[in-house]
Order: sequence, then C-alpha cells, then structure tokens
Amino acid sequence: MATAQSAQQQPGAEPGILDTKFRELLATVKKNRPSDDTGIIRLAWEFCARHHQGQLRASGDPYVLHPLEVGQMLAEMRLDATAIAAGLLHDAVEDTPVTADDVAEQFGEQVAHIVEGVTKIDKIQFANREDRQAENVRKMLLAMVSDVRVVLIKLVDRLHNMRTLEHLAADRRQAIARETLDIYAPLAHRLGMGKIRGELEDLAFRFVDPIAYEQVSGAVEARREEGEHFLREVEAALNERLREHKIRARVEWRIKRLYSIYEKLQKQQVTVDQIYDLLAIRAITTSVQDCYAVFGLIHSLWRPVPGRIKDFIAMPRPNLYQSLHTTVMGEGGHQFEVQIRTEEMHRLAEEGIAAHWKYKSGAGSTSARDEQRLAWVRQLVEWQREMTDPNEFLSTLKIDLYPEEVYTFTPKGKVVVLPKDSTPIDFAYSIHTDVGNSCVGAKVNGRLTPLRAKLRNGDIVEIATQHGHTPSRDWLNYTKSPRARNKIKHWLNEHQRQRAVEIGRKLLEREARKYRIPLSKITDSDYARVAADCGLGTASELIAAIGFGKYSSRQILNKLSPGAIGPNSLETEAAAEARPAPPGDGVAKIHLRGSDSLLVEGQDDLLVYRARCCNPIRGEEIVGYVTRGKGVAVHARACTNVQNLLYESDRRIAVEWAAGEDSSAVGARAGGRETRTTYPVKLTVYCDDRAGMLKELTAVISDEDANIRGLDTKVATGSEAVVEFVLEVEDVRHLNSIVSGLRRVQGVREVLRAAKV
Ligand code: MN
Repeated sequence: MATAQSAQQQPGAEPGILDTKFRELLATVKKNRPSDDTGIIRLAWEFCARHHQGQLRASGDPYVLHPLEVGQMLAEMRLDATAIAAGLLHDAVEDTPVTADDVAEQFGEQVAHIVEGVTKIDKIQFANREDRQAENVRKMLLAMVSDVRVVLIKLVDRLHNMRTLEHLAADRRQAIARETLDIYAPLAHRLGMGKIRGELEDLAFRFVDPIAYEQVSGAVEARREEGEHFLREVEAALNERLREHKIRARVEWRIKRLYSIYEKLQKQQVTVDQIYDLLAIRAITTSVQDCYAVFGLIHSLWRPVPGRIKDFIAMPRPNLYQSLHTTVMGEGGHQFEVQIRTEEMHRLAEEGIAAHWKYKSGAGSTSARDEQRLAWVRQLVEWQREMTDPNEFLSTLKIDLYPEEVYTFTPKGKVVVLPKDSTPIDFAYSIHTDVGNSCVGAKVNGRLTPLRAKLRNGDIVEIATQHGHTPSRDWLNYTKSPRARNKIKHWLNEHQRQRAVEIGRKLLEREARKYRIPLSKITDSDYARVAADCGLGTASELIAAIGFGKYSSRQILNKLSPGAIGPNSLETEAAAEARPAPPGDGVAKIHLRGSDSLLVEGQDDLLVYRARCCNPIRGEEIVGYVTRGKGVAVHARACTNVQNLLYESDRRIAVEWAAGEDSSAVGARAGGRETRTTYPVKLTVYCDDRAGMLKELTAVISDEDANIRGLDTKVATGSEAVVEFVLEVEDVRHLNSIVSGLRRVQGVREVLRAAKV
C-alpha cells in the first residue's frame, strides 16, 4: 500500500520536502485546534499523495504540493479537520480517477460533500462572461454551495493558484486573473475576508493590467523609503502617548495595497502623485472603550482631515466590518489614515466568515455573543428565511442564499438567473423570444429533460428549437419568469386573433349563404365603412370581432349589405332552426370528430371543442355555441349551461357528430394504427358496502370492453359505499349499456354520470 512516503519519490520534489511540509501542517492544526483529531488529515494526505502521484504542476513541482499548501492555509485559518481533509482532497475527483463515492466511502459523507461542491464550482466555465454578469456569478456560487467550507476551500485554492500563476501561459494567466478580480476577490470581500481579498486583488492586478500595475507600484516604491520613515516616527509618537495614558494597544503601520490605491486613482480621477493616503496606521485595542480613547489621542496629536471620520463601530458595514476610521495631517503635510479596532474586530476584518470556526467547538450555549455573531453571519449571507434553530445553523454552517432565485448556465457559461422553480421554457425565453416560441426540448447537464422540469442551481441548459413550432397555452402552467409568461401570453393573444379572423370569416360566409347574399359583391369599402361604424380600424378587425363573438355575423352582414336581410328574407330563429340544411350546403352543420376534437368535417379550419361543463360524448344530442375567441364550444343539449348560453341565439350553431367514424376510418387517418376514439366519462356508483362489490362492478366494465382510467372508493355511511369510475367509452350507446349493466349488479342503488370528468 502506498503511504505518505511515496510522495517523497515524486518527480521534481526535493527529498523530504513534502514530508516536512506535511509535518508543518500537522503542527499548525495542533496549535490552532488542539482537540481536533488529525487522523482524517493523515488519511487524506496519504490518499492525495497516492492518487496525484506522478502529476506535475506547470511550475514543475509535484502536483501534491498544491493540495498540501491549500491544507496548510486552511489550517492557518483555524478551520476544522474536516475542512482540511477536504482541502487535501479537493482536486482528487477532478484530476484523478477517484470518484465521489470513493471519497465518501473512505472519508465520510461530509468530506465527500465538500469535495463535490468544490469540483462543481471548478466545472463552471466563466469564460466570455460579461461584466454585468459578475454579481450573478458570485451570487450563484454562494447559492450553489450548501456548506461555507466549500467557498473557503475554493478561495484558498484560487489564492494558491494565483501565487503560482506566472508558470502558466499568458492567455490563461490573463483569464484566471480577470476571473479572480471579478468573482473571487469580491466574494472574499462579501464574506468579510479582508486578508484573502487583498492578496487576491494585488496578485490579479499584476496580470490584468500590467501597465497600470507598473505605474502604481513604481510610484509607491519611489515613495516607500520616505513613507516608511515617516510611519515609524508616527508609530513611536503614538506608542509614547499610549504609555502616558496607560492604554494597552498595539500599533501597526503599512503602505496601502496597490490595487486599493489603483481603485482610488480610478475613482478620484487623480494621478499617483496626488494620492495622499498611501500611508496607514492601525491601532488594535482590547476594548471598544479604548478604541474611542485612542481615537481622541490621535486627534490630540494630529489634525483630522474634515469629512474623513467614520465610526463603523457604531454603524458596522454590510459585511459587519467594524472599526473607527480617521485621516489626519502629519508633519510635512503627510496625510495618513488611522484605523482603530479591537482584537476581535480585527480578526473578523481579516478572516471574515472563517473566524467562526474558532468558536465552533463547545457551541452549546447561545450567549449574547453568539447571537451577535449569528446576526453577522445572517446578514453576511443575506439570509432570507426564518431560522428555527440557530445552533443547528452554526454547527452545520449551511447556507441557503437567494432562495427565490435559481442560477443556471448556457453551454457557453453565461449565467441565466431565473425565479425559483423555473423550467427550460423560462430559460429559452430568457435567451430570445424566438427561442422560447420554437422550443421543443431541452438538455439539462447533457441529458434530455422534459420542458416542465424544474431547474436547479448550476444546471447547464441547452434548448432545442424547431422551425415553425409554436407555444402552447399549457406552458403557462410551467413558467415562472414574467418575461416568459408575457411572451407566451402575447403569442397566444396574437394567435387567438388570427383564429378569430378565421372563425369570423367562416361564420360570415355561412350566414351569407344562408341568406343567399354573394359575399363577392361586398367591396373593401363596404368593410371599411362597417368597421368604422363599429369603431374598428380594419376589415380584419371587423371579421375578428365576429370570431370573438362581439358581433353576430347576421348583424354585420346586415350592415355590409343593407336591406338584403329584409323582412322577407328574415326568418324567425325557430323557422331557421327547423328548416333542413339546403342540399349541398356543408356549412350549416359542423361535424364533430375525435375526442378533443378540433376537426370539423368540411370545415377543418373552424376551431371546435367539447365543452368542459358537460363533456358530450359521441351519440349525444349536441349544440354548438360560438364563444368569444375560442371557437365553437359543443355542449350536450341537456347541459344546464346551454339554457343560459343560448339566449344569444345568434351565437348558436348547429353541430353534429361526423358520420361513419368507426375504428377503421380513424385507423386510416392515423396511418393504419388501430386507434379508437374514446371519451372519458365519470360515473358515480352508490351501492351496498359489501365484500366482492368492487370486483363485480369492474367485471361489468371490462365485459363491456371499456378502459378504467381512474377509480376511487369511499364509504359514505355505515352500509353504503360510493365508487367513482373514470371510464373511456366510445359513444352514448356504449355508455348506456355499461350503466344498465352496473345497475343490474346486486346491491347497486344508483349510477350517476358526473357532468365534469
Ligand atoms: Mn486546486
């Protein structure tokens, strides 16, 4: 079995250097977290050394040096053994044949989960990302991980890669540095990790804008000696004054970071020579009270610059950074900034969210302090939900950010932010209206996925489109984003208008034939006149208005051809109804075919559907009714709605079932397939609650050769049972035969057909 020793024989490694470094790591863990069990760290190191064996980094170093450095940095951040083990293994799944299952088996679910999270982030391609996407990417990153340690490892991983960036090719360098500046440094900032953020920024700055970097660093170097000399004097003066007043505080000084100077140059539109606050002093005290005391001392020594005093102790920043800031004028006109804070504030400013691991062990009681820290974390991650158990939150450090949004990708790596529970349809519309309108399928993470499937964070979505494909009303049930919904509705309205024009024209033609008025004699100007009369702009709007049912075809026809429907030609409704269709007039009757029928014999274009309220089945007496914009609704004549609907007699239209529809006819249409049109019907059977009842009922139905689509039983009283069937029947004869069969079963009291299915 390979052990840590095998790492010694790796190419490029100086003998023993890896061992030495690993011992250093263990020593750091011992120092920072003496009670942590290092067993898992040792195991992880052996595993890591074994599986990365022979791999080299671009620098020529053995690959394992990288995870080892990552582990070391995590240990220095005082993270727990689990995080350090995961840090050592963070590239194992990505870069070696090791699988997530292997990791889970040997190191447990938690480590595997963290490694998986890091791997997932690694797979995202940020290339070609637009600037305005950066915030989305950062949010998405946070939303993707359920364990903060994933982000911490990723940040440390990036930091080490940035430190060794010079070994990569120039274009790779540039891309990685850009991404660091856009994504990872702001992420570190958001998590309050000032130290990592600063280092990431300065490292990236060098590669992203080498010219500006040279300028800024050149200017800083030129003033370094003078600046450092000055700061040492300030330090000495301040220390002396602190001693006099018996205030315990340590004083640090520094020349500000290059990237922060650069940002200031950009923001203030000045040259490096004009930047006055290159120099900074920091006093770190043991109490908040002392912070304000030191603040007073400083102002007694040096004159404050107006407008530069900030109290972030009383008013912490959004990432809960706390400090007192002031800028003062020193000797020789040197300005310098002073930050004053307690040790704890300092640690939080440097380490941010990582500072919490220190308190994790022994987290049993919820002290006021814990509450405060919790508030900090809460605000930090913009926690949006009620937390039921704050302790649990701290111990698992689960984060659920931006729960109202889901972050997905195009195959090219562009982030698409959608409302939670969005589907590929939402995604398609977010790309382009045409993509949405013509989408027929989707691949999510390379797999074919239904259009109605909900997308999850990190999903890579690919949309398949087909020319000529159109949206369906159904889609409104599977879309969340306002954009998609509006576009679908818009399309449907537009489409509905076209349908209305078609329906309106048919109705007008039908009416014209009925009264033997040649439509060809009606001119464009007639249409225009009548349209204007009705307050409509165009002839097609007029026709659509008939289709939508706003006007009856007879009304419009009468206006188009005044007098043609005179008292002589005007029949009463009853007479018109009673009069048989003229020979050869295929329009008078609409023939209904199929189960959810859109098909009409001879008049294929007319939109006809069975009304939901009564679901008429083949063979039943039916009535057609021209709806507003949805075509012709076909009701059973017995339907209660018919009485209410038909008071507008103009909208009534005669319909009948297409003749000769049997299985062979339909089969021929369907290209030879044996299909039979059936209609769903719901029957409610009231019967005795006795053994064998259900069996007998279903036997009747299957003897009648009807499919049972749904079945529900409930006991209504002590002795009576109610059984509901949804059956597929061929026609009304078929249904009647089933009903009488059911009624013959002993103990059946009543069989009723429900209007709705
Ligand atoms: Mn790595």
